[in-house]
Amino acid sequence: AQQKMLVTGCSSGIGLSVAARLAKDELGRFKVVATMRDLEKRGALEKAAGDALNQTLEIKELDVCSEASIKECVNSLPDRRVDVLVNNAGVGMIGPLECQSTAAVKEIFDTNFFGLVRLVKEVLPDMKRRQSGHIVVMSSVMGIQGLLFNDVYSASKFAVEGFCESLAVQAMKFNIKTTLVEPGPVVTEFERKLYELAETMDLSKTDEETAKIFREMYLPYSKKIFTSLGQSPEEVSEQTFKLITTKDPPLRHQTNRLYTPMTALKHADPTGRLPLDTFYKMVFKHDRVFNATLTSCLKGNETLC
Ligand code: NAD
Repeated sequence: AQQKMLVTGCSSGIGLSVAARLAKDELGRFKVVATMRDLEKRGALEKAAGDALNQTLEIKELDVCSEASIKECVNSLPDRRVDVLVNNAGVGMIGPLECQSTAAVKEIFDTNFFGLVRLVKEVLPDMKRRQSGHIVVMSSVMGIQGLLFNDVYSASKFAVEGFCESLAVQAMKFNIKTTLVEPGPVVTEFERKLYELAETMDLSKTDEETAKIFREMYLPYSKKIFTSLGQSPEEVSEQTFKLITTKDPPLRHQTNRLYTPMTALKHADPTGRLPLDTFYKMVFKHDRVFNATLTSCLKGNETLC
């Protein structure tokens, strides 16, 4: 029988690509319920799905911030069956903390963390009863290592990581797999929305020095990182596909190997000094060694990384 897949946030980016990739499986192993908050945005997914549309891919409405919407969607599935949940819907936030309202900060957590909690609460009991299932979660390298001006976003992904890491042990007892997919930068709507938000941000709410660091150092640097090191959503979905189809998937998988040295710093020094000093030097002292490494990476010479 075909495995039943539920993917969230499929109107664009990684979610769209994962849903289409699964639906187009050469062996026809999957029946994909590709969900999105706003069905009016279904056009891009319909196009990407092609012949798979209404065959192995079905589009349904699901807002991860609404328990009622999640319930309605899951209740509409035959036997409420979800073999693989791909929790992908997520939103970003960058900028000085003083420029963000507490309400906006809560919204990030409402989608990125509580969205996951709501979905897992809905599908986990059935998975336990069936003694099978796979919970796949789109986390981020920022779920492992915090980065400048990403305080809130990173915190929301840390929450996701802690939640899954804890749950994974119990899930394993019921033969349920858990996988955190950790991309670095991916060129999607996510990036566009972030910079759009940064353009309209009221930087007068922070001091001049912080505003300057954000506007003149962070933003241009971040844009450069996206264009030079950013993966395509297809690269991430192909790796996600492999994680779903492999027999014994890992708890964590970083999609961009250029980022593994960054996260390795953290594990190399439990005091936290090593990553802290490295990021400080990288941002404020323009450390020569780091910049040489980065330049070399940007040129595609990965031997130094
Ligand atoms: P994206 O903006 O293209 O896709 C995010 C999707 O989530 C959108 O379709 C959006 O409509 C949907 N969404 C937002 N709120 C929702 C809600 N309440 N209910 C249902 N859907 C909702 O960006 P993306 O890059 O494809 O992001 C997908 C995931 O990957 C996110 O969890 C993001 O945090 C993560 N990620 C992205 C990057 C990156 O650089 N783009 C890097 C690491 C991790």
